[in-house]
Amino acid sequence: MSRQIFLTNTFSKQKEPFTPLHPPLVGIYVCGPTVYGDPHLGHARPAITYDVLVRLFRYLNYKVRYVRNITDVGHLEDEMGEGEDKIAKRARLEQLEPMEVVQYYTLRFHEAMRLLNTLPPDIEPRASGHIIEQIELIKEILKSGFAYESNGSVYFDVEAYSKKHRYGRLSGRVIEDLQANTRSLDGQSEKRAPYDFALWKRASPEHIMRWISPWGEGFPGWHVECSAMSAKYLGNEFDIHGGGLDLLFPHHECELAQNTAARGSGGIRYWMHNNLITINGQKMGKSLGNFITLEELFTGAHRLLTQSFNPMVIRFFILQAHYRSTLDFSNEALMAAEKGLKRLQQAAKAARGLAVANVGDATIAPSQELQKFCGAVLDALCDDLNTPIAIAHLFEVVRWVNGVVDSKTALHPNDADVLSTLFGAILGDVLGLREDEANGNGGALLGGVMELVLEVRAQAKARKEYAASDAIRDRLAALGVVIKDTKEGTTWAASI
Ligand code: ZN
Repeated sequence: MSRQIFLTNTFSKQKEPFTPLHPPLVGIYVCGPTVYGDPHLGHARPAITYDVLVRLFRYLNYKVRYVRNITDVGHLEDEMGEGEDKIAKRARLEQLEPMEVVQYYTLRFHEAMRLLNTLPPDIEPRASGHIIEQIELIKEILKSGFAYESNGSVYFDVEAYSKKHRYGRLSGRVIEDLQANTRSLDGQSEKRAPYDFALWKRASPEHIMRWISPWGEGFPGWHVECSAMSAKYLGNEFDIHGGGLDLLFPHHECELAQNTAARGSGGIRYWMHNNLITINGQKMGKSLGNFITLEELFTGAHRLLTQSFNPMVIRFFILQAHYRSTLDFSNEALMAAEKGLKRLQQAAKAARGLAVANVGDATIAPSQELQKFCGAVLDALCDDLNTPIAIAHLFEVVRWVNGVVDSKTALHPNDADVLSTLFGAILGDVLGLREDEANGNGGALLGGVMELVLEVRAQAKARKEYAASDAIRDRLAALGVVIKDTKEGTTWAASI
């Protein structure tokens, strides 16, 4: 804990020195996925951002309790509490039990996260497993007078709340704007105002996910789960709450209002938001045809991609931008990231192969330049997680290593230690850029076997034995390995 970490607090809009409430423990809550569809690019950025934050704290000897939830009930199509539950809708369309949908997509999310080398959270609570805590929270909000019951549902009373507290403190929205921007009520609504949001929804007769409550059978609204579960595992007041910028409003604003209404204080000391991803300059969306799942990225099976990309390339690409900047994805940008990562990893390998001088060898002095690079990399990471600057300094280290390789000199033992910190502890453990050629599947052995299989197939093709080369492709596909022929050669990836 020798270094001071600075973080931009969405709350104060300032970069602030970070001090945990109960050192050395750091409590972090991050909003996790609503598990009703395949994990996609939008899931990768927050997962990787907060993964690096957790890894950095641990590297600096903090103890971290990292909580990331799974939303498996209550996330309605309209985030203010109208429309169909996203999971119930998928279950209806696929004729499955809602919990089958939840299990299927949770497992796929976990597998994608493993391939991206993100550490699993320490606690991964599910909304459906915390109904009692959510009901208790709603009771507290009702007791404080900032919610009302209406036809078996309970809504947060934004106007009543605004008389005592500031709704919009986090996102900067003001009630007048909300009034102008929310759909006007058609007279059928149970809500007093369009910007009131659901804490509890009455279940219609056909609704499957339902629980008994003081207000009848129903289910909790989406925003309630994070207020209830973060307090349960991290306390009413805790250090960091993270999530994507798309969650700032309404989700996090509502969470803050709920905490304040029930407990008198917002409870969260640092709010962090990662910015969003665009694809070829456009917002990602199913209707725009540029929606890319992580599996499509890993296997190259998407019309916007010319090849498959190792999950480490995706991770490196995301870390090349600061988490608070927008990030534009394109096939070309990913190919450039692939080259950059290769250079870093080749230098890491070369550094491990360098000869180290004897301790008593007076002809070789430790490099001050290298020491300086190491300090600069750590300074950048502690400066609001500035991964692009840290990576830029790592490329200076690459040039330094290549210079040593060219000059064929031996390393001072201190320099060998610094290089192992830079490439092992920082590139590997903090930035989480794993070195392997097998896309995180089965390690070096499978990588080697796949190289051999693809070589045999290329030889068959060269002899015009197309039936044999196609058979290899089909057999691999049956095993879940997707191969793709490109100008530069054949790439492979295991599907999730
Ligand atoms: Zn949340």
